[in-house]
Amino acid sequence: MDKYSGKSVFGGIAIGKIRIFQKGRQEIKNIKADNPKAEISRFNEAKTKAIEGLQELYEKALKEAGEQSAAILQIHQIMLNDIDYTNSVEGIITNQNVTAEFAVAITRDYFYEMFSSMEDEYMKARAADVKDISERVIRILCNDNSRPTDSKVPSIIIADDLAPSETVQLDKDLVLAFVTVHGSPNSHTAILARTMGIPAITNVDIPLNWSINGRMAVVDGYNGVIYVDPDSEFVKEMQFLQEKELYKRKLLLELKGKDNVTLDGKKMTLYANIGNTKDLASVTENDASGVGLFRSEFIYFEKNSLPSEEEQFQIYKTAAESLKGKRVVIRTLDIGTDKQADYLNLEEEENPAMGLRAIRISLTNLELFKTQLRAIYRASAYGNIAVMYPFITSVEEVSEIKDITEEVKKELDFKGIDYSHDIEEGIMIETPAAALISDKLAKVVDFFSIGTNDLSSYAMAIDRQNTKTDRFYNPHHLAVLRMIKMVVDNAHKNGIHAGICGELGSDLSLTETFLKIGVDELSVSPSMILPLRDKIRKTDTSNLNLEYDL
Ligand code: PEP
Ligand code: MG
Repeated sequence: MDKYSGKSVFGGIAIGKIRIFQKGRQEIKNIKADNPKAEISRFNEAKTKAIEGLQELYEKALKEAGEQSAAILQIHQIMLNDIDYTNSVEGIITNQNVTAEFAVAITRDYFYEMFSSMEDEYMKARAADVKDISERVIRILCNDNSRPTDSKVPSIIIADDLAPSETVQLDKDLVLAFVTVHGSPNSHTAILARTMGIPAITNVDIPLNWSINGRMAVVDGYNGVIYVDPDSEFVKEMQFLQEKELYKRKLLLELKGKDNVTLDGKKMTLYANIGNTKDLASVTENDASGVGLFRSEFIYFEKNSLPSEEEQFQIYKTAAESLKGKRVVIRTLDIGTDKQADYLNLEEEENPAMGLRAIRISLTNLELFKTQLRAIYRASAYGNIAVMYPFITSVEEVSEIKDITEEVKKELDFKGIDYSHDIEEGIMIETPAAALISDKLAKVVDFFSIGTNDLSSYAMAIDRQNTKTDRFYNPHHLAVLRMIKMVVDNAHKNGIHAGICGELGSDLSLTETFLKIGVDELSVSPSMILPLRDKIRKTDTSNLNLEYDL
């Protein structure tokens, strides 16, 4: 049995076979080829396989997500059959004596550039599609068609690293655990693993070669360890732990329907963080009071082009309706740093964490912003929706947003489209600037939600993705805790509520501190709702000795 250690992202035990996750972009090792005819046949066989695979996916998507979402898979099939595309690949093979995969890669880059530089938005969006179809063919060519990611058996996924857009597209039912060689426990991929409630470890020094693919393994998410080829005694031990875990979970389920109230009567609301409508079931299963953070950007990651107003509307409406009057806080697009959607074609920046991200993108691209706002406002007629803006740093930004929301409301009024007139508008406090002027901001918004992931990062000047700085990162840094207290105090002085929606909210060692500070609500991964309820119900805030000098 081989043991590899890393950092825990989400606890839990998983036992199963390893499946190596391949990146969208396959490394091409063989470039030169001496038999162009054979390469052209390889290309055509791979293309046929890719089209067959896309047809299967199309039928699956049609059943699960409807015609509109499935349509792209048909477009991909048409693109693969495109004569110019095929001629380009075959021409490169013949003229340059190169392998089929290399010729596809050159064609991919050429077509990608061509589509990206087009004026027409629809054609521009095809750049991501051509990349996608080419990489599908390259994967088949590089792997003798035995791409393990197409396995239908639930497995332990091992990858070098996973981007949020890749994680979100994995079929949750086929993932027992995530193990990555790189990546940080604070990344959005880690957050997604927690939202999905799947054991996950990162920074694991495991050799990522095909020899481990398909081998048995045990992941201990609590201790951040993966054991490859465990003996049967060890597997039994871990199965026992798994059963104990299940039993604990059952005990927690008895807390469903109970209040989040301390022994001395202090209440706190517990909301769930979600990334798409698939997560809605776990909101109800875990008895959350609603959704405190709907990371709407994940809707954008699940697609190869911008989601339309109608598509977004349907998603927000589903969320509002299925939560039957419970609050759903939709955060507008928060793209940037590790959260990227290729088709947006955002320029590379020297320092993306401080660059054009989140609300800055929305305020720069008004059509994108208004499309999303219209969808949110329209959906507000079907439930209890609130809207929240990410990465705010000034009162002026809030005024600019308000002008835009007024325009959107006027447009809807003009068209006679229904929406809620009491929709609350809040902001994320996730920059030190916002925390330090929270007295001013509290006068112009309806609520605050503290994004401790970014707030901690900017307070300590530490990139949340960079594992080299881990030893300098203190999640309980006094600066962050003091800012939280300041924000809550300023909110209350101005009669608004303040919650926490960053990962710190689920840190059970801070629950007492947050209760004492007076945080009104915590929004956490659905699986953390009941453990937090348990903690709150066992706490007496009247006799707490807090360790922090707030
Ligand atoms: C945060 O920064 O704490 C937050 C909740 O936003 P995100 O993690 O999506 O950046
Ligand atoms: Mg944030």
